[in-house]
Amino acid sequence: MNSVSSTSEPDSRPSDFFALTAGEFRERVRSLGLPAYRGEQVLAWVYKRFVADFDEMSDLSKPDRSALGAAFRFRLPSVSRVSRSSDRLTTKLLLALDDGAAVEGVVMHHPRRRPTLCVSVQVGCAQGCLFCATGSMGLSRNMTAAEILAEIWLLRRHMIREDKVDAVPTLVFMGMGEPLDNEEGFFRALAMLNSQEGFGLGSRKITVSTVGGPDRIRRLAELGLQLQLAVSLHAATDSLRGRLVPGQKGVAVAELVDAARYYFQKTGREVTFEYVVIQRVNDSEEDATRLAGLLRGFPGKVNLIPFNPVSHNAMKPPEPEALARFRELLTRASIKVTIRHSQGRDINAACGQLAVRERQASTPQVMRYA
Ligand code: SF4
Repeated sequence: MNSVSSTSEPDSRPSDFFALTAGEFRERVRSLGLPAYRGEQVLAWVYKRFVADFDEMSDLSKPDRSALGAAFRFRLPSVSRVSRSSDRLTTKLLLALDDGAAVEGVVMHHPRRRPTLCVSVQVGCAQGCLFCATGSMGLSRNMTAAEILAEIWLLRRHMIREDKVDAVPTLVFMGMGEPLDNEEGFFRALAMLNSQEGFGLGSRKITVSTVGGPDRIRRLAELGLQLQLAVSLHAATDSLRGRLVPGQKGVAVAELVDAARYYFQKTGREVTFEYVVIQRVNDSEEDATRLAGLLRGFPGKVNLIPFNPVSHNAMKPPEPEALARFRELLTRASIKVTIRHSQGRDINAACGQLAVRERQASTPQVMRYA
């Protein structure tokens, strides 16, 4: 007989720690007959000291450690590879999930800003953006909220233990996958990130990057969170956007901008429009003029991202003059513009370059985790 329990029996398997909110965890600890402060101690070990092993929680009695160990487990992905950029500001972690699926997360440091963690929410992606390596993989599956949170926890632990940086990071959901294609896992993860007993990462420190569509952006607005929204636009006409972002074919860019306006009205948060600039695809003066027309009077900004080369197509970054001219035309139309100089190109960790099947050209530096 195997050990699978019948549906009428209580589930005796250990609960996944990262699938529980702090409140749910404390409740379960109490139901084990342990004092309430035990739950608080464990939460402090996990989220303040980045220890995910009951045996290492030295202020817990041995019997309590074994009771907790029988009731909960920390399902952390294993770190298969760690790649560091030559300037040592960017580190990419290749993570193996429980079923062997692989995703990548990135830790980025900046001389004058908080560190940033770039987080994946899906194994692959169904949107198929032509300029994105993840898009060329197709979608394998969504990540659960617990997997997303365990990924963030590992990235943060890497930042603290390996990089020796103990600042509260900002999070950008710009890794593998489209967050709004995984509403269930992503929305639950967002709710849990806010908890002060847990990650303690306020919504204002979190940026969600999405291709849309309009209805889903409206639903995100309805959550009432103060998230920073970045809408991946990349083109000012429906036909060009439909080619560059095939998963959003048939969605009018004007409707997307309307949804972004709704987001701003609901949350008061300025929206950023991301625009990957690709040589002779969407970098002409005509493209810039159309974009200026589309966004005229919008209370937000445009973030121009010079295309980062990927191996699956022959697209090229814009010429510097074309990029400067593009920016100038937007600025003249009173649109705020920034240019994002992506970090970590040499380890394929820059925007649009994450794809676990690709091998780095550089020799990765492999680290061991306790
Ligand atoms: S850019 Fe984002 S939405 Fe588009 S394929 Fe890549 S991960 Fe998916």
